[in-house]
Amino acid sequence: MKTALEAPPLGPILDDLVRYHRPQRESGSVPANIPFLAAVPFDKFGIAVATTSGKVFSSGDADIPFSIQSISKVFTLAMALRGDKSGTLWSRVLREPSGTSFNSLVQLEVEHGIPRNPFINAGALVVTDHLMEETSDAATQLLRFLTLEAGSAGPFIDEGAAASELSSSSRNLALAHFLKDFGNLKQPAESVVENYVRQCSIMMTCTELAQAGLFLAKEGRGRLRTVLSPSDAKRIGSIMLTCGMYDAAGEFAYRVGLPGKSGVGGGILVIVPGECAISVWSPRLDAKGNSLAGTAALADLSDRTGWSVF
Ligand code: GLU
Repeated sequence: MKTALEAPPLGPILDDLVRYHRPQRESGSVPANIPFLAAVPFDKFGIAVATTSGKVFSSGDADIPFSIQSISKVFTLAMALRGDKSGTLWSRVLREPSGTSFNSLVQLEVEHGIPRNPFINAGALVVTDHLMEETSDAATQLLRFLTLEAGSAGPFIDEGAAASELSSSSRNLALAHFLKDFGNLKQPAESVVENYVRQCSIMMTCTELAQAGLFLAKEGRGRLRTVLSPSDAKRIGSIMLTCGMYDAAGEFAYRVGLPGKSGVGGGILVIVPGECAISVWSPRLDAKGNSLAGTAALADLSDRTGWSVF
């Protein structure tokens, strides 16, 4: 890894990435089950870096809020581990890549209701259920967590978007009912899915998201408090590396060499342990569901800065 002295200045690099990677014409896709995401202009592109030394760099559309979708799963996992004094969470969800689509029903049936990892939908539903043991409104609890760590009152739940996704959530409801049938869901399936969809509908900017994720680059130390132990922060990074990019975690590790989590809203959160948290957003997705331009920009950034865990 290059030291701060050797590294080229970050501001101009980010401007250059925006110039080079902002989509010029529409390619890629939008998720079929969340119609409002299709309305976001294809040429949006933002990037932000929050460093462990307290600086924030950003460029492009870094201050336009977007739907964080599955990136929320990183933060609900952090909240669940934070409160999991008895260590029961890891008896309900595994830590292996799934090798199937993020909302697969087949694997859950074959594996008797224990989801492969907390970042596929079934695993995230178990995590949300776990949080709901403390509060029935886990999504609002997550919003508070993000607001605190981002140091900004900006994040909000897009309730309209959540309601629209909820009206076409048959598959997530099916997953929740499966979990319930296997005894791996304590709250009513409908309430868990509602909380889950609302947590996915949180809107944040790249700048806010990079700041909110910074505790993962700082051995669990948040803005004003200890969020997680260094071990748990390391473990979340490991799960991001192996399971964070849908069924393309291997390809992302190959191209970018850093732990990341993406969402179908086109955002990606990446951690450079000890250095920074990076958030990039561009709405059109590749065939595996990861931001097309966002992934390309992160590969470029990692090459230019030498940031990698390898
Ligand atoms: N709310 C989305 C779903 O459950 C999240 C998908 C994602 O970003 O992976 O389908």
